Amino acid sequence: MLLSLFIHFSTPSRCLPIKTCKRCCQYSTGRNVHKVDTPVLLKNALPLAFNRSGGHGGKQKYIRLNSSQKRCFSSECDEVCHHHEHGEVRVRFAPSPTGFLHLGGLRTALYNYIYAKKYGGSFILRMEDTDQSRLVPGAAESIEDMLEWAGRTDLTTHIYTDLHTDLHTDQSRLVPGAAESIEDMLEWAGIPPDESPRGGGQYGPYLQSQRLSLYSQAADSLVQTGKAYHCFCSQQRLELLKRDALRSGQTPRYDNRCRHLRPDQVEEKLDQKVPHVIRFRLESGVEPFNDLVFGWNRHEVAQVEGDPVVMKADGFPTYHLANVVDDHLMKVSHVLRGSEWLISTSKHLLLYRALGWKPPVFGHLPLLLNRDGSKLSKRQGDIYIQSFQRSGALPEALLDITTHCGSGFNSNRVGRKMEELIAEFNPSKITTHSALLDLGKLAEFNKIHLQQRIDDAVQRDWLVRDLQGRIQEVYGTQVQDQDVLQPDYITRVLHLRKGHISSVSDLVSSEYSYLWVRPSFSDQQMAALSSEIQHIATLVIRLMEGLKGGEELTVDQLSVELKTLAKKTSNTKYRDVMKIIRLALSGLQQGPSVAEMMVSLGPSEITHRFNRVLQQLSRQH
Ligand SMILES: [Zn+2]
Repeated sequence: MLLSLFIHFSTPSRCLPIKTCKRCCQYSTGRNVHKVDTPVLLKNALPLAFNRSGGHGGKQKYIRLNSSQKRCFSSECDEVCHHHEHGEVRVRFAPSPTGFLHLGGLRTALYNYIYAKKYGGSFILRMEDTDQSRLVPGAAESIEDMLEWAGRTDLTTHIYTDLHTDLHTDQSRLVPGAAESIEDMLEWAGIPPDESPRGGGQYGPYLQSQRLSLYSQAADSLVQTGKAYHCFCSQQRLELLKRDALRSGQTPRYDNRCRHLRPDQVEEKLDQKVPHVIRFRLESGVEPFNDLVFGWNRHEVAQVEGDPVVMKADGFPTYHLANVVDDHLMKVSHVLRGSEWLISTSKHLLLYRALGWKPPVFGHLPLLLNRDGSKLSKRQGDIYIQSFQRSGALPEALLDITTHCGSGFNSNRVGRKMEELIAEFNPSKITTHSALLDLGKLAEFNKIHLQQRIDDAVQRDWLVRDLQGRIQEVYGTQVQDQDVLQPDYITRVLHLRKGHISSVSDLVSSEYSYLWVRPSFSDQQMAALSSEIQHIATLVIRLMEGLKGGEELTVDQLSVELKTLAKKTSNTKYRDVMKIIRLALSGLQQGPSVAEMMVSLGPSEITHRFNRVLQQLSRQH
């Protein structure tokens, strides 16, 4: 769908002087993206003619470049220019607290964070808790479905904007605690904001619901300069317009009726307290803008949309007004947001112009999709950061996998940590195609990062604390010996299992329960393996006494000792000796090697467990 929004750029013949231009060539063939060896950005090349509606279809409109415009700049230069032109880099992540942070949101936040850190700037968290209409689940789809049914798929791209014509704010969709939780998750993920609702900052408040007077000031000034107007149309009238449009396969749009009200009519209705919204007067003649990712873009909004609501009847702003006012007042230099906002950007630029403000640089990030190209549904619970956290995913593994599948880096490799992500980030390498996320690979990413963390003393402490919590949560009172919660015991276990486990949560699974809980087994289970259990138990206890000297056990040393031990039995095979030890230590018939289990548990715990075997046997007699 988004492909249809791209402005097609060049003719093959005219493309020649700039054929190494990444963007030019990408757009020139739509779906077929040419890879080029040295990507450079097209700069100062102003499009002279545009695909008017931005709609797709066979016809391609070309831009002509005059000779002075045929200049290519290296991506690095372009980047630096952007940086210098706009002074201090200030970027923001502005989620709506209608739900918890999900993987797509985390990725947007991450790119903003990396951008800020790369250029010594600030990363701002702002909660957009005023305009909920943009997130009505299923609303966009249902209109889209109807248009598809009507055979007008070319109109579906304007759906987002139409959702803003809602008269009423529905604050009921705000999820209590979601704002707090989003900030918690960013901190957990290692991308803490420099300014935020909780942490404050110079340009606060950072909750839109606490900035309402700023939006109404802006809306009033637009009305005073004639750039916005009061609209008194009833919801019923708007519904009717929408229904009529859909029935005839047209884009639902407001017909701008209230633009033409005389001042005295407006006064009268205001005096009568007729409910009203404020609409922004869309002008034609939109200026093109150079998106950091999508290149030159322009969307002649006035031709396809009715005048958008900027202030709703309840005094809450819509997204369009609020984000422009906030980005301006918070001195945001670069807006890096999801590509679903690309078509709205021209409208936002019109607002900047109407308010007399200098707009920020825009960069629209391609969508994050499932590997099969389907949408990462927010209703699919397992993409929430909390559920990854619960399942033992490491934040750095999540960050690594979301950047790995996407773009923005010179090369791809698994195992990058934050400093490396920042160092290797190159915004000119962000491509326009959607990033396909293969969550099936998360375990592999996690295993690599887990190993790195276990090898790092400071990072390891974090893991130890995490695991302590998980052990208590899963086993609780079953943990008879509190020594298993000691950091040195847990650290030993982590070292032994690294490279084998993909997540710390593996260690609290039943397979590893022996580490934390003393096992139970029946006399019959033991008797079935050997008739000399008592002898074997005594041999193991004696072996442990000999090893209690204080030095750490090693797997190699134990393997040798166990072979020797097995030879001291009279009618039990080595294999069965191992089975007995495994059963006594874990209550299981499978698992890691016996020597490894013994190293994890250590001599005193092994002795304790075999003493229990002896007690169990003596009770029998
Ligand atoms: Zn109206």
